[in-house]
This record gives sequence, structure tokens and C-alpha cells, in this order.
Amino acid sequence: MRAVVFKDFGSVELAEVDKPSILEPTDALLRVTTTAICGSDLHVLHARIPGMTPGSVLGHEFVGVVEEVGGAITKFKPGDRALGSFTIPCGDCWFCERRMFSRCHDQHVFGYGSFFGDVNGAQADYVRVPNADFTLHHLDAGMSDEQVLFAGDIFTTGYDCAAEAQIEPGDSVVVVGCGPVGLMAVQAAKVFQPSAIYAVDSVSQRLEMAQTFGAIPVDSSSVHPATFIQDHTDGRGADRVLECVGLLPALTDSLDFVRAGGRVSVIGVHSDPEVALPLNITFVRAIDLKFCGTANIVGRWDEALRIIAEGRAEPDAIISHRMKLDDAVRGYELFESREALKVVLTP
Ligand SMILES: [Zn+2]
Ligand SMILES: [Zn+2]
Repeated sequence: MRAVVFKDFGSVELAEVDKPSILEPTDALLRVTTTAICGSDLHVLHARIPGMTPGSVLGHEFVGVVEEVGGAITKFKPGDRALGSFTIPCGDCWFCERRMFSRCHDQHVFGYGSFFGDVNGAQADYVRVPNADFTLHHLDAGMSDEQVLFAGDIFTTGYDCAAEAQIEPGDSVVVVGCGPVGLMAVQAAKVFQPSAIYAVDSVSQRLEMAQTFGAIPVDSSSVHPATFIQDHTDGRGADRVLECVGLLPALTDSLDFVRAGGRVSVIGVHSDPEVALPLNITFVRAIDLKFCGTANIVGRWDEALRIIAEGRAEPDAIISHRMKLDDAVRGYELFESREALKVVLTP
């Protein structure tokens, strides 16, 4: 079968690989119908996630049709259409029992190398899905692949960040960073009925899209965002800040944007071992700093799919490029150069 495989740091290729098969009774084999390139695929590619072996299959956003199931699978049968979660929880540890699936000690990730369970990804004709009773979600026939695809990763990630921010109706909200996850966070934040969402970025195309989702764009290349936000919140700062970048300047900016006693919810992936934070000011201003870690996809995707089904969010609106799996390498180039906001691939 065809698959997008990790070649070397910085490069992928489309290769012919063996079709996967059921290895465990809790596995399912899925024929992929739609998949996508995620920002975190680029992390893998550039070795910010160590442990990738050449030839391993990338990709963790996918929808498909179940082709075969292992003997212990109870929720799916061949022919079922299903959405995949990018994370694979064990399903029966202390955390999984409490639906804190993303805190699972034995959590694996599709296409993320040996430190994440060495599970081949889904940018391929077929994918083996471990713990499929947890890792797959049934889909309503009325929903298209594209509508639901991001509920397995970036939309539910944005929703997780918004939910962890504990937005109350009428709150002012800032979303820092309008990449794909930030744009999902804008849409998800809206579900909690804030009075205003300020979207901070410096890329005009992203800001325009955030605006179409109902946010007030704040172009950090032309205005001073902290001043802008203070001017619009009677000098207090925003009630809630959703940090969707994962770099120190975005985190320290978030502490500037939030009001005293407000909450910063961090979904941007931080990889620095240590950083200098303005600790005294953060303490005195009583900032509630919430790190979300890996988003709780399996714990929250019921809600995420309901929101999409009810038309309260439209994650697929960010798709800028639809390509065949055969053109995946070009898709990676377009995504990496930021010419493409979001690339969807169909085998
Ligand atoms: Zn992802
Ligand atoms: Zn677990």
C-alpha cells in the first residue's frame, strides 16, 4: 500500500509499504478515506520529537472504514465508518477509568516514533488502530469526512483549551496564535458565549480567518497587543487567555494579556526544559496558569462532535488544500512554507 514515511530529518516520501494487519485482539484495521497534515507532523520531521525511525508512517488525523477487527473489539465491526483519535489511551489505568485519557501512563500516538509506542500513522491507504474501542469514534452518516476529521485532533485540542480556560458567559477571551489550533480555539471559545474574542497573530490570512469565526483580529505586527487588549477591557486585561503557540514569548505575552485573577490556558506545546517566567508578578496578580498537556481527545470528542453536528463550529473551514495522497510530499512543502493553512489528503 502507499504511505507517507519519515525519510530523514526534514524529509518525507511517499513509499510502498506492507499493508498493516491485526496484531492484538484489541486492534482494528481501518481503510483510510481522509487524512490530513498536522503542525505536529512538522515537529516529528524536524526532530523536535526524537525517536523516529526511517520508514515509519506519519499522520494522526484520519477518518476511514473499518475493514477488520480483533477478537476483543466490541464496539466496531467491518464496514463501520469511524474517526480516529491522534492519541491512543490504554483504556484501563487509573486515569483512563476517570476519563482523563490524555494523562494515561501508557498513551501512544500515531506516527510519533518510538517514544510514543512506535505506532505507524494514517497518511496511508490503511492504518492499524490499537485499542480501537477507545481510539475510534462512530460517525453519523450525515457528517462528511472533512466535517468530523479535526474532532480527532486539532478541533478537540482547541476545545480542550477553551474548556480548561473555564470561560464564563460574558467573559473577554484572548486567543494567542492563529495557526490551525488557535483557529479551532477561537471557534471552541465561542461555544462558551464570551462577550468578545481577541485573536492575536501577525499573519493577515490567519487573522482574516479568525475574524470570519467571530474574533476581533489583533495584528501584532501593527499594534501593541497588550495595550489594545487593555484598551478594550477597561484597563484590566482579558478574563481568559488561550495560549496556542507553545513558545516562551507567547506565554509571557499571555501573562500580560490576562487580568488579575484571570486564567491562562496553555495548549501550545512547550518543549523548553526551563524558562524564565515573571514569577513575582504572576504571583501578585494571582494568575491561574493552566497547562493542558496533550489534549483529552477521547474524553471530549463526544462534545466536540455534537458541537460540529449542531453547526456551532465549522472546523473544516480552515482547509486550504485538498490533495491526493500521491501528492503528499508537495502538501508537506506547501504546509511548511505556510502557503497552505491546512492540507487534507485522500488516498
Ligand atoms: Zn496533530
Ligand atoms: Zn490509561
